[in-house]
Amino acid sequence: MPGEDSIIEWATGLTIAGGAGLTAWAAVSPWSELFGPVLRRADSPVSMPLTFDDGPNPAITPALLDLLERYGARGTFFMIGRHVRANPQLAAEVLARGHAIGNHTETHPNLIWLSPARIREELLRCQEAIEDATGHGPRWMRPPYGFRGPQLAPVLRKGGWAGMALWSRAMFDWKPQPPGKMIRRMARARGGEILLMHDGDPFIERADRSHVLRSLEQWLPRWAEAGIKFPTIDDLTARSAAIPATA
Ligand SMILES: [Zn+2]
Repeated sequence: MPGEDSIIEWATGLTIAGGAGLTAWAAVSPWSELFGPVLRRADSPVSMPLTFDDGPNPAITPALLDLLERYGARGTFFMIGRHVRANPQLAAEVLARGHAIGNHTETHPNLIWLSPARIREELLRCQEAIEDATGHGPRWMRPPYGFRGPQLAPVLRKGGWAGMALWSRAMFDWKPQPPGKMIRRMARARGGEILLMHDGDPFIERADRSHVLRSLEQWLPRWAEAGIKFPTIDDLTARSAAIPATA
């Protein structure tokens, strides 16, 4: 349980950082020359995008959607294609309830070792699964484990994806654990950061992610009370058109 001290410290940080960032809402940087467009942060001290990888997961995602809704928070869900194929209605519900979906590949491989052709196949199969389930293809992708080589950016560019969305603060939540540790890690999160969390597991069906729910139950009300907003990755980088699966 975070104490009052951590909340006060957090609110103080917000005050010091406040003012400068609101007008820079849409400006996204830095863009890496070598690895292509990379999104790492939200350029506003009152904005904290929440991202959830490796779902959809029928054991947790529905409860997570209810929790986010309670605090007017919208998340970005980087889904794995084969999990989407197994749970298409859940993927559709995520989008229908106002959240964004990103492409997290079909089978969650380490992309460093894959050829451009294999990477493209992983992305296109996931893209098709999401488009079949929801009617919309994601604009952003997140490489599994955050691992990527210089061959990824040209694949994204040629395929019409906006780029890769990474994170600035990981919650180290990808294994079942008591919620206490994650609640304490969450105390360090600040506005302007993109948070990495997990509602699923690449290789386990119905993975236990109850610690993610318990931690957000503690922190969402505090963040909301401090004026933090929870935009999606797509909100940060709005463009008009969705990327078709055949791009
Ligand atoms: Zn992942």
